[in-house]
Formats: sequence, C-alpha cells, structure tokens
Amino acid sequence: MKLRLEDITAEAKELTFVEPEMEVNRILAQGPVREYHVNAPIGVTVSYYRAGTDLFFAGSLKAQTVATCARCAEDFKASNERAFRLVMAPKSIGMDGDPGLRADDLEFSLYDGVEIDLGPLVREQLLLALPTRPLCQDGCRGLCPHCGINLNRGECQCRSAQPDPRFAVLRSLKIGRN
Ligand SMILES: [Zn+2]
Ligand SMILES: [Zn+2]
Repeated sequence: MKLRLEDITAEAKELTFVEPEMEVNRILAQGPVREYHVNAPIGVTVSYYRAGTDLFFAGSLKAQTVATCARCAEDFKASNERAFRLVMAPKSIGMDGDPGLRADDLEFSLYDGVEIDLGPLVREQLLLALPTRPLCQDGCRGLCPHCGINLNRGECQCRSAQPDPRFAVLRSLKIGRN
C-alpha cells in the first residue's frame, strides 16, 4: 500500500488495507526466522497525519502464519498481532531533525520522493511480531529424547526407566538436607 505525500495532511486519517504476503515470505525464507510461513494477506489498520514535514503513523497488523514448533516439530497455525507507532522525517533533513521526535517509544525512519510505501513498514513490524522460537502452545512438552514420541499426544515408558540425569543433582541435594 502506498500513500501519496500530498494526501497526508494535518488532519488524521485512518486506512484499512491488506498487504500481500508474498514478499514477507520471501524474506522469511532467507532466515534467520525460517520456521514461519504467512498463509494469507496481512491485515493492517493505520492512522496517519503530518506535523510540518514529519509524518506520524500508528496502527496494528494481524497475520495468519504456519510455523514449526521448536520443541515438538509439529506444524501449527497461529495468529500474530502487533501494534506499532512510527515517525518519518524527510531524508533531506535526516537524522539532524528535532531529536525530541525520537522518543523512546517511537520508531524513527526517513522518507523521500512523493509517496510512502507502507509495505516495508508492515513487513518489518510483522517480523518483529513473530517469536524467535515458535511454540505450538506455551506448555508444549516436546519430544521424548529417548524414543522420539510427541509427549503432547501421550506418555512413553522412557521416563521411569531412564531418569533425566539433569535432575540427579537436585535429588542428591534433597537427600543431603534430610
Ligand atoms: Zn510443540
Ligand atoms: Zn520415550
């Protein structure tokens, strides 16, 4: 989605659009977060206005992804949302612009030309919305390191037969206290 500079006025406007997912999937395929695939256009709502030459954007995005769980290796669908705020200043003024604009909670970027392409902004924000370690659920139990069974689906007999050596230290501590 592109906005013409002359259409960004001091009066705030709101825009809802979908950004095609193809480009962000191309970026995801290059890594470092390869575990995700976006499987539908990215839904975006953004409001924007200008103050002088500075452009202000605030909005949110929502994307449907398929990811591979880092613990159990199963593919799962998820909905990823993120709110964002951004200030853009003209490149001609650049980073020498009013430092007061660069408050901690605002992202800062530059523009030039006669239009603003929101595509790169949306893609960057979506990448930030994706956890670096995707989990199918918070409490995913992963795979048994001995037999490979998915522990979300059922128990195996390995645990009782081969106690996890990492807990041996804890057990000896307890015995020591008693
Ligand atoms: Zn999982
Ligand atoms: Zn097992």
